[in-house]
Amino acid sequence: MTALSDHSVTVIGAGIGGLAASCYLADAGADVTVLERHDRPGGRTGRLEDGEFTFDTGPSWYLMPDVFERFFAHFDCEPEDYYSLTRLDPNYRVLFKDGDAVDIPADPDAVREVFESYETGAGATFDTYLDESKFVYEVGMDRFVYQDRPRFRDWVDTDVLRSLPAATLAKSMDDYVGDFFEHPKLRQLVQYTLVFLGGSPYNTPALYTLMSHVDYNLGVYYPDGGLYSVVEGLADLATELGVTLETGVDVTGIAPASSGGVELATTAGEHAADAVVSNAPPAHVDRDLLPDRHRAHDDDYWDSRTYAPSAYMLYLGVDGSLDSLAHHTLVLPTDWRSHFESIFDDPRWPTDPAYYVNVPSLTDDSVAPDGHEAVVVLVPIAPGLEDGEHVRERFREQVIDDIAAHTGVDLRDRIVVEHEASVRTFAKRYSTPQGTALGLAHTLTQTGPLRPGRRGPIDGLYYVGGSTTPGIGVPMCLISGEHAAEAVRSDLAGAPSLSSRLSLEW
Ligand SMILES: Cc1cc2nc3c(=O)[nH]c(=O)nc-3n(C[C@H](O)[C@H](O)[C@H](O)COP(=O)(O)OP(=O)(O)OC[C@H]3O[C@@H](n4cnc5c(N)ncnc54)[C@H](O)[C@@H]3O)c2cc1C
Repeated sequence: MTALSDHSVTVIGAGIGGLAASCYLADAGADVTVLERHDRPGGRTGRLEDGEFTFDTGPSWYLMPDVFERFFAHFDCEPEDYYSLTRLDPNYRVLFKDGDAVDIPADPDAVREVFESYETGAGATFDTYLDESKFVYEVGMDRFVYQDRPRFRDWVDTDVLRSLPAATLAKSMDDYVGDFFEHPKLRQLVQYTLVFLGGSPYNTPALYTLMSHVDYNLGVYYPDGGLYSVVEGLADLATELGVTLETGVDVTGIAPASSGGVELATTAGEHAADAVVSNAPPAHVDRDLLPDRHRAHDDDYWDSRTYAPSAYMLYLGVDGSLDSLAHHTLVLPTDWRSHFESIFDDPRWPTDPAYYVNVPSLTDDSVAPDGHEAVVVLVPIAPGLEDGEHVRERFREQVIDDIAAHTGVDLRDRIVVEHEASVRTFAKRYSTPQGTALGLAHTLTQTGPLRPGRRGPIDGLYYVGGSTTPGIGVPMCLISGEHAAEAVRSDLAGAPSLSSRLSLEW
């Protein structure tokens, strides 16, 4: 990168994207300040502590270790300089609600046997499916994810598109996977990872079959102390690179500065910089922070987007052991179409939910006191759902009953610590539209150049994080940080800085 020695950049929000962008920008020589409204960094990658219990409030799956390695390598270090990783085996357990249970082992050859046990010939088909998934991952990461391709015409790279299997471009995941596997449970096994992208098998393009390579080949890791250890690592790296992190500062307005650059109104006073990188969602910036005349879109536009699910979350400190659960357990109804309909087509609280239970204390003694387990339950639900106290109380009872019925673990009377999060939590804490937990869904019309762009509606304003490109998830937000920093650098390098303009005016 050409140096940004004289330039100041302010980052709004210390989520993964904001922290990553601040590292790249400081490394390029910019004077970087991060303004975060909460009292600690991390955003949706959060941590909740209650007594001796520690919970990850958001992400708990450390996937795509290659992306983390690439990120730290840019700064001549490696993830292990900041946190320790354990590879999980099994990757996760699936408890189907008809009583069937299956562990997905870390070794893909052992997964092959699992597939064969459900359907004769599915083991060999799994090999073909996984080869295709690996190929799409490698082409996709190399040509579309690591390279920022902000314009539609950049995506229409006929050579690359021709090299991808046609079905991955033309079909939904559900149709694509149906060409490989007959057994409905096998189809579910290869499609559940779409939930990480905030999508459903019925509205997500088959290009995202690449997630199967992530799942089965690249493996599932656990950073000791939980995913928040990654945030601590990024914050430490940022500090080492000279970034100033100011917490407890809410940005309340953004406008072009009269002397060039961008001006921010904040709860700690006014603030000007040559460039501003917003890790706050574009919808929040447009609706709440920019003057009307500078908005990119009106309310109708933002209301009509397809948002990824919100989540009903329980964070539970539990007395005693939980034998039937693994570090990651998915509890799936055998027909999950109705749950996806309740998220995307006909928003309502699910009657037969598909959900995820995380018990990190099975791997890590430090997150729960002796004789106890730390448990996080995540039920994906429709964004924008009304979630008043009574609705939440009823749903909490339903979820605890469902866990008892389908995992054999009756948590009632064993809960010693309890916290909850729901639609309103995400809307209030992170200003996400409709209280989505994840951001804009990765539908065909909200993928790649069709997501909000890198550059905002006023000069000097940039976007980073899960609602821009490449998209949702901790690894994608790290990459987003690199792209945002590169956009700032290419626009500012060689241009006079705010401080030099001010000293000339002076
Ligand atoms: C429940 C849940 C489970 C998930 N599971 C996984 C998983 O297992 N694996 C995975 O890889 N990903 C997972 N994700 C997705 C992942 O957490 C997100 O994609 C990622 O953390 C989003 O980062 P971001 O860069 O978009 O920033 P955000 O996390 O959105 O952070 C933005 C920051 O900006 C701050 N901010 C906003 N507005 C302002 C303002 N006006 N002034 C000052 N500060 C402001 C916010 O406080 C916040 O700290 C999960 C997410 C959730 C919610």
